[in-house]
Amino acid sequence: MALLTGKTALILGVANKWSLAYAIAQAYVREGAQVVLTYQSDRLKLTVEELGKEISPDVLVLACDVTVPEQLDALAATLKEKFGTVDTVVHSIAFANREDLSRPYVQTSRDGYLLAQEVSSYSLVAVSRAMLPLMPNGGSIMTLSYLGAVRVVENYNVMGVAKAALEASVRYLASDLGAQNIRVNAISAGPVKTTSARGIKDFSKVLDGVSAVAPLRRNTDPAEVADTAVFLGSNLGRGITGNVIYVDAGFQVMALALSQGS
Ligand code: NAP
Repeated sequence: MALLTGKTALILGVANKWSLAYAIAQAYVREGAQVVLTYQSDRLKLTVEELGKEISPDVLVLACDVTVPEQLDALAATLKEKFGTVDTVVHSIAFANREDLSRPYVQTSRDGYLLAQEVSSYSLVAVSRAMLPLMPNGGSIMTLSYLGAVRVVENYNVMGVAKAALEASVRYLASDLGAQNIRVNAISAGPVKTTSARGIKDFSKVLDGVSAVAPLRRNTDPAEVADTAVFLGSNLGRGITGNVIYVDAGFQVMALALSQGS
């Protein structure tokens, strides 16, 4: 039987076919979930609706800019009306100003720092709070993180600091919500060429560096991230909360590689 049959999943962060959230939505539909996607602004409404239709005619597409509390409230109200409850929330959202992903971290402006924190980290708290009334039977909330949260990755800068806050939020939310049988985890994905990633200076060098050194000697496939999201959203992940799971071809275990590319 499919792993997510009977579950309703809200997936935030599909911008195009390269988005990690798109791969996750495909895997969720494959496993029998009712999927709801969101778009940030009217500019992307049609695109996300088209993408949703391609995945499955049953995918519902709703508006949600995570920085606007009224939009989160409206999203929760629509989900309540249509489905009553939600089982899984996938938060796959981040943003930082391009200039903050190319110059030295010490040059980060106050506004740039706060923007990255608001969109990439605080939004997980806001989304979780908005969805809480829809999760009376428990459920699974997950977000996407990156190694730059815990180690220095050149040019990742303000986003690394936002991911550090995001991973700390995962632990605090897991503690808050565990009594309601709601699990909260992060998937720390290896680098994947997406629109957001292209904003990071020298990103193609990161891809080359990782595939040379990672134990599996390759980069991460979005489908691998998606299958881990299925696992966390399913009953198979029922014992896991407050964790950061690395789906990165093993790169994060490496300290020094003497035989690069061999
Ligand atoms: P992506 O396709 O560009 O997805 C980022 C999404 O965030 C877009 O759908 C974007 O919507 C959305 N977003 C930004 N601001 C928003 C707001 N205020 N309200 C609602 N949505 C907003 O890139 P991605 O790589 O798949 O990123 C998804 C997540 O994976 C991010 O958290 C990212 O940090 C994480 N991640 C990525 C990698 C990687 O190498 N690609 C590795 C590890 C973790 P718009 O396009 O409409 O702005």
